This record gives sequence, structure tokens and C-alpha cells, in this order.
Amino acid sequence: MRLFVCHACDNIVYFESRNCGHCGHRLGYVPDQQVMRALTPEGECWRVLGDPARLYSFCANARTDACNWLVPAGAAEALCAACRHNGTIPDLSDPARLKAWRDIEDAKHRLIYSLMRWRLPLQTRAEDPEHGLIFHFLADEGERKVMTGHDNGVITIALSEADDILEFSEKVTVITIDAKPKMFGHGDQPGANIAGHLKRRGIPAEVRNVESGARSAALAILEEAKALDADLVVMGGYAHSRLRELVFGGATRELLRNATVPLLMAH
Ligand SMILES: [Zn+2]
Ligand SMILES: [Zn+2]
Repeated sequence: MRLFVCHACDNIVYFESRNCGHCGHRLGYVPDQQVMRALTPEGECWRVLGDPARLYSFCANARTDACNWLVPAGAAEALCAACRHNGTIPDLSDPARLKAWRDIEDAKHRLIYSLMRWRLPLQTRAEDPEHGLIFHFLADEGERKVMTGHDNGVITIALSEADDILEFSEKVTVITIDAKPKMFGHGDQPGANIAGHLKRRGIPAEVRNVESGARSAALAILEEAKALDADLVVMGGYAHSRLRELVFGGATRELLRNATVPLLMAH
């Protein structure tokens, strides 16, 4: 998943961001342009900052904070290009199911984003009753356990699969190495937007800004992980291009070679 920028202030934001952590603007994803846009409210609708011709509404699933995609204002379809593939959704009056559904919606939105980027055919069940893509999100009912599976465009997802590895963590620490305010879109407090993103998912995280000094970035991460008595290091490699990693080696490769704690690479 690539990183996005808030076009109002150039701060880095995430695909799931609802607001910019730097300038505070409400953000929405425009699927046909594959961009995040900063918005200003206008009645029930939202206008793209600096592009007055574009007026949007949020997808109907934004009401339950399960979606941040936009639909053109006045469109007949209240659901966005990702959510109109939903068949069955769980009973949202149950807070645990609502939370699990939001997590799976994040993953489904990433899938639809990728299918759009690869220009793969993407028809709803209404458009193609035989092969259109439709998701059923089902919760276990008593003894009846739901299995995740797919059949001819019908995808069934068990809500029980929404458990997130980070949610089982006693403590999550976001470590930045030699990060300076504003560098690479860090904003005023490096790491704060990642911590905010985790908080939105109910995962309390604390930020530690570490200076590498004479150490390599990889060694600084490993020593910090040891000092924190960490069981797992989760590393996102998306800030560096693959080519750059190949040419320069990079902290990722050094970490993989020398890791003293289990590593989870997240791209
Ligand atoms: Zn911003
Ligand atoms: Zn939606």
C-alpha cells in the first residue's frame, strides 16, 4: 500500500485516515482518482479544498465509521465503489461485531483499491448477477461457526477473523530513528500520526524518538527492542522504494540478517 499525502499541507496520511494529523482537515478517498483529498463541509456535502468543482458525500458506511470513501454529491448510489459490493453485514448494534466489521472493512477496502489499480474487472452482483463480486460478513451464531471462503464471486468472511495481532499486545511502542519534525511528512511530532492511527483502532501506542548516534538504523532498532523487552518487531518497508533497498541494502536487509527478536514485515 502506498502512502498518501494531505493535499492541504503535504503531511503523510494513511489510506484509512479520517482527518489529517497535521492540519486537521477532514479527509476522504476519491476512488476514481485514487487520491486522498482534504475537504471543507458544505451543508450535507463536502467540497474538495482548492477544487470547487468537486462536491462529494461520504459513503453511507461512514456513519458507522466503517468507510472513508467518497461518492459524487447527488449520486443515486449512497454506497461507495467498495461498499456497494457488500451483501450481508453483521448486526451493528453489537459493539464487538461493529469493531470486527470495521477492521475487515479496512482490509476489504485495500483489496478493492488494489483491484482498481490493476484494472481488474470489478462488477457488483447487481451489475452481473452471475459473477459479480459480493461479500457476506457473517458472525458465528452459537454452535454454528462461519468459515471464510469464496465461490464464483461470492466471498464469505467470518467476523472472527478480524482479530488483529497488535490487539493482543500488552504494549505497542512506535520507534522512529533519527526522525526530525516535518522530515518525510512526519509532521511536528515524528511517529505521532502512526500512534494516532493505532489509537483509532483501539490500540494505545507510545512513541519513542531514538537517535542512532554512531549505530546503524538496524542496530538502533534492535537495541531499542531489547531494552523494551519486545516480543515482536513490526516493520513497514513502504517508506523506501524496492530499488533503493536493492541498491543500498538498507536497514530492512540488515535487520533481517541480524534480528534477535521475531520480525514481521508489513507492506
Ligand atoms: Zn493536512
Ligand atoms: Zn464505502
